[in-house]
Amino acid sequence: MAIPFVDLKTQYQSIKEEVDPAVLKVMNNCNFVLGQEVKDFEKAFAEYCEAKFCVGVDSGYSALELALHAHDIGPGDEVITQANTFQATALAIHYVGATPVLVDCNPDTYNIDTTKIEAAITDKTVAIMPVHLYGQPADMDAIKAIAEKHNLKVIEDSAQGHGARINGKRVGGMGHAAGFSFYPGKNLGAYGDGGAVVTNDEAIAEKIIMLRNLGMKVKYHHDIKGFNNRLDTMQAAVLGVKLPHLDGWNAGRRQAAAWYEEGLKDTAVVTPMTPDHMESVFHLYVIRVPSMREEFMEYLGENGIASGLHYPIPIHCQPSFSELGYKEGDFPITEAYSQQIVSLPMFGELTKEQVDFVCDHVKKFSDQNW
Ligand SMILES: *Cc1c(COP(=O)(O)O)cnc(C)c1O
Repeated sequence: MAIPFVDLKTQYQSIKEEVDPAVLKVMNNCNFVLGQEVKDFEKAFAEYCEAKFCVGVDSGYSALELALHAHDIGPGDEVITQANTFQATALAIHYVGATPVLVDCNPDTYNIDTTKIEAAITDKTVAIMPVHLYGQPADMDAIKAIAEKHNLKVIEDSAQGHGARINGKRVGGMGHAAGFSFYPGKNLGAYGDGGAVVTNDEAIAEKIIMLRNLGMKVKYHHDIKGFNNRLDTMQAAVLGVKLPHLDGWNAGRRQAAAWYEEGLKDTAVVTPMTPDHMESVFHLYVIRVPSMREEFMEYLGENGIASGLHYPIPIHCQPSFSELGYKEGDFPITEAYSQQIVSLPMFGELTKEQVDFVCDHVKKFSDQNW
């Protein structure tokens, strides 16, 4: 048996009959940029996120950058985020001219440690950018309470969180704005790059509509200086077809996670923990191993099981962010976990047989080595 990390081919086969005509329709209409499909998808995705507005853009990175720009966050400002995130989170903060200020993660949830946020706040802090890492919602109640107390914006990095819930309510509409990614491997993925900003603030939505399109609301009338970060109609057509399937795929991921949890309980690995009032969408299924990670991943690979590392190097240890002046030891949980984490195969179509196959191999390695 060979088990891929994600299986986009199986998913495409399951929706081919729907998605092929939707793409062909765009080609026939030749409305390639900001066509009707973009508007339709934006409306549907806002509703899905239980938020008022959605503006489609060309990537998750752009969504975060434009969300920051729209809130006039820039040079001289500090934005707090977590040390154990994907580079794009910190880059978006950097490229609007602000400075990313990092905080360690909670040892159980891997999300930003909310007890450490206030110590990172200075008189330059203007926003917090929590990440719903691995599909698990950040502790938005605690984050919003801190933000209100210190008059900060909250911009969610929802690139891994499509559909995740806290107390039954979707992430994405919880802060001042949220950035989603539709990179193909995300829970809701386009057939190329794509992203969206979701917000309940009409003025922010209007501003992002201009920012993504060279600063125009009316053609050739440029009220502000914008960028070219538009969502392609073709991608919106794909996303529109896929959105109604998302809850089913996320349920498939949660089922696979439950099988993993059961199958790995007599091993030395640590499985993910989801707080009772939250519903993770398991963008990734990340376990922690006690030692011998390289050998473990090699063993999985030899047996046809793909695995990954998310992420092997924390932001403050990346050469690209050496200017922030952090040093090793600044974020002990993030650093320790970066040596222990392994991501196992995770996608909505994963079968019980496939999960059992992975668990059997983890158990064999665990019995022999740990
Ligand atoms: C994927 C991702 C992004 C960036 O999304 P792109 O669409 O690839 O630009 C940002 N933040 C996190 C946490 C991500 O996983």
